[in-house]
Amino acid sequence: MTAEQFILAIDQGTTSSRALLFDRSGAVVSLAQRAIDVTYPHPGWVNQDANQIWSVTEAVCREALAQADAGWSQVAAIGITNQRETTILWDRKTGEPLAPAIVWQSRQSADVIRSMERRGVADAYRSITGLVLDPYFSASKIRWLLDQNRDLEQRAKHGEVCFGTVDSWLIWRLTSGHHLTDVTNASRTMLFDIGKCRWSEELLADLDIPASILPTVVPNAGAIATTSAAYGSVPITGCAGDQHAALFGQTCFAEGQAKNTYGTGSFALMNTGLHVVASNNGLLTTPAWSYNDQTTYALEGSVLVSGSAVQWLRDELGIIETAADVEALARSVPSAGGVVFVPALTGLGAPDWDDAARGTIIGITRGTTRAHIARATLEAIAFQVADVLRAMASDAGSPVTELKVDGGAAGNDLLLQLQSDLLGVPVVRSAIQVTTALGAAYLAGLGIGYWTDETELSRMWQSNGRFEPAISEDERASRVDTWRRAVERSRGWAEVVR
Ligand code: ADP
Repeated sequence: MTAEQFILAIDQGTTSSRALLFDRSGAVVSLAQRAIDVTYPHPGWVNQDANQIWSVTEAVCREALAQADAGWSQVAAIGITNQRETTILWDRKTGEPLAPAIVWQSRQSADVIRSMERRGVADAYRSITGLVLDPYFSASKIRWLLDQNRDLEQRAKHGEVCFGTVDSWLIWRLTSGHHLTDVTNASRTMLFDIGKCRWSEELLADLDIPASILPTVVPNAGAIATTSAAYGSVPITGCAGDQHAALFGQTCFAEGQAKNTYGTGSFALMNTGLHVVASNNGLLTTPAWSYNDQTTYALEGSVLVSGSAVQWLRDELGIIETAADVEALARSVPSAGGVVFVPALTGLGAPDWDDAARGTIIGITRGTTRAHIARATLEAIAFQVADVLRAMASDAGSPVTELKVDGGAAGNDLLLQLQSDLLGVPVVRSAIQVTTALGAAYLAGLGIGYWTDETELSRMWQSNGRFEPAISEDERASRVDTWRRAVERSRGWAEVVR
């Protein structure tokens, strides 16, 4: 009898690397996780050590195999998912990193973005890449690194330097020198033409970034590469950025299906089918995945403060002991008693985009208790996600039909009921919380034929909670109206008190 075959999913996140083995039924067989160090060398800078990203990732892969008592020969294929936009430059000959990895959150290239704004190129970037000019994406980070070191820039021009996001870096190390990236990770560099699915010569010229530093772009599923003998000569057949992988892991294969991840912030993506939908509502347009010569697109919106508002209740107000306590406290009252909390603690993200907005709690009376504040906090998380999904539906011209959810705060049943009430559609929680890893495994499994097609994946996918709307259309409209009035009051506050 031959030994059982598994799919190995590598999930390289901002704070940790995880490796998971999945079996044929799509169940998790083993999971290993280790933290990654993050440094903050100057205000607004966020850096990591690319060598550590690799060594920790390699270690968790070995641990996941050891836990299942499996060898590399039992890995049918590898799928990779990763923190997006994080920028690494390394020496093409030696494979050594040439600078600290600049993490997606880092604002250190803000000056590059300011000068791009002054040059008036925002519209060109938006129409080619689907993105807004922001230091978040890789392009300005690359330009900044080359500006800092003219020798590095010369070497880049002579083809001696490789650029990659974390997927590229891991593939390079796993394969001893294949320089590749997938469509979704490429799309977050701000150098990729998402309509044509290739690097944009126009934007490379605009930023004077040599094309030779870029990886070759490959589909999200299929024969991507093979690991070196040290890693079992295993096919890598799936790769996608974390949010795209989560959309896939949530089996949102049909147009109109959407997922939200409730973590520190909220990340919502909606499948828009084969259409590149430009946003009029402050959302990003992005490839969802590309394989079998077909690219599916998505709209993406990020809410800056979601679960972290609950952390604020816990750590700063001290009204709960653990994040999970918020549910019982909020359930102890039938409503927020007219209190609305706009958690614009670091400004507002999609769809309002206001750096100067600040947290606002309004409607407080003599009878307001901490339970009302707790309930208003959960409502705020749901209202913000509902705003983003409404913006998506308006851009796409078709409604969201169902919301699949995951992330730390998705364990909160009250939050998910509020969410369903506010959206007017079912909210369904994934049984497997690590949907990013699940998506990477699904892509790799499809890519190698371990699983047959999306229909088989949809059948395998399991939920552990479904929430149906329980309020009337009128009540929904009235609650949203109250919320929007509160959002208006939170706007621009940092400018008022300056
Ligand atoms: P991240 O991946 O962004 O670190 P996680 O997906 O691990 O986040 O989710 C953690 C966040 O979810 C924290 O901000 C925490 O406050 C919040 N959270 C965790 N459990 C609950 C809960 N039961 N109800 C509401 N929020 C919660």
